[in-house]
Amino acid sequence: MNKKENSQKAHHVYSDISLHVHTRDEHNISRKQISDNALKVLYRLNGAGYDAYLVGGGVRDLLLGEQPKDFDIATNATPEQIKKLFRNCRLIGRRFRLAHIMFGRDIIEVATFRGHHQEQEKNVSQQSKEGMLLRDNVYGSIDEDAERRDFTINAMYYNIGDYSIHDYAGGVEDLNDRLIRLIGDPDVRYREDPVRMLRAIRFAAKLDFDIEEDTAAPIEDLAPLLRDIPSARLYEEALKLLQSGYGLETYHLMREYNLFQQLFPLIAPHFTEDYSSQTEQVLDLVLDATDERIEEGKRVNPAFMFAAMLWYPMMESAKELMSRGLSEYDAMMEASNIILDEQVKSTAIPRRHTATIREIWQLQLRLPRRSGKRAYRLMELNKFRAGFDFLEMRGEIEGGEVALLAKWWGTFQSAGRNMRQAMVNDIGGSSSRSGSRRRRTPKAKNAKSAE
Ligand code: ATP
Ligand code: MG
Repeated sequence: MNKKENSQKAHHVYSDISLHVHTRDEHNISRKQISDNALKVLYRLNGAGYDAYLVGGGVRDLLLGEQPKDFDIATNATPEQIKKLFRNCRLIGRRFRLAHIMFGRDIIEVATFRGHHQEQEKNVSQQSKEGMLLRDNVYGSIDEDAERRDFTINAMYYNIGDYSIHDYAGGVEDLNDRLIRLIGDPDVRYREDPVRMLRAIRFAAKLDFDIEEDTAAPIEDLAPLLRDIPSARLYEEALKLLQSGYGLETYHLMREYNLFQQLFPLIAPHFTEDYSSQTEQVLDLVLDATDERIEEGKRVNPAFMFAAMLWYPMMESAKELMSRGLSEYDAMMEASNIILDEQVKSTAIPRRHTATIREIWQLQLRLPRRSGKRAYRLMELNKFRAGFDFLEMRGEIEGGEVALLAKWWGTFQSAGRNMRQAMVNDIGGSSSRSGSRRRRTPKAKNAKSAE
């Protein structure tokens, strides 16, 4: 591999690739900031005579003084050579063959330098009509590897051999200027892999960087290329975009660039000039709440987010079906099917989550019915909390009965036994059916019902 690398003087596809080495005393990365497991892998590869670099988000985030999410490693060792060095190694991936070194739950990903897909080696690289990369398993030199990475700030390599940073695309400068800049011709790079458009937005929001002009320019027009991306990949990407702590900002940026519309075609028709539709309001609320939970170190549930985002489109569809004679319950069931079937075409929400989304939606129909033992039984349901949290959000947006109902449930949960019983008695039969025409007079004389 080393020999091949030296003899094969890399020709550069992009003129903006040229190496700057920042020596150990010219940067602020120290080994203490790198996880023990990542260091172990780097040193073992290096000790066996291979080149070993930390690369990508790990280097970028360390240079920014942030704690990286994970540490990715790049090397000139082939996957098979890597496997021989580590007992705890698994080779994965079809599109890219990668080595996973397992340390319990911690997994260090090691990738062999990738070469140019343009060099049509037999059947190792394939492109679709639209110029999209389908298969991509050509190994190469480190400078070829750098060229194939997406953004300049993601193409910096920390060399475990001498602790220097190899910067191939001016990433250090862009990092200082706080710029997201694609390597190469943006139009070509987005066509190769349209997900790079989403990644540009994600990093801009997360790092609070600007997107360099030429990198930003083609996005709006090329956004529809995302429709050709497998829905499973887009689902994963959607979670990274919206559930990594910067969801609100990311959504607004995505929308500006016509990207949100591709991932959520059912929501796009609800967009208004002044961001005033109920769907837009719920997006702001749920994404803000999600960001806050992440900030507080709490867990976030994708099902809750999707349930909130798709609720008003679902209700619109349900109302349509009711106007054609379906009962409220049947209409909602049918509308849920329609909306979820459609949404999974762009983002493949796993079944366990679509089941929860349905439960949260159904609870919106059940929560008004609180008489007798119902309130107690509802509270015992698994998804009660999620259903209630969403009811509160709707209350904020819709006001009126929904807000009062959310308030009732809030009080009920924190109330003691006697108070709870009184609250249930107060309801009597009046709201045991939502939308009942004949309202019975509440049994309690002093009917201070929360409704
Ligand atoms: P983070 O892990 O914080 O989200 P990251 O930059 O590490 O950010 P990963 O998805 O882990 O992102 O990818 C690791 C590296 O692989 C990137 O830094 C980049 O160099 C390269 N890379 C990832 N996805 C692409 C892509 N679609 N096109 C080109 N290069 C990519
Ligand atoms: Mg990473």
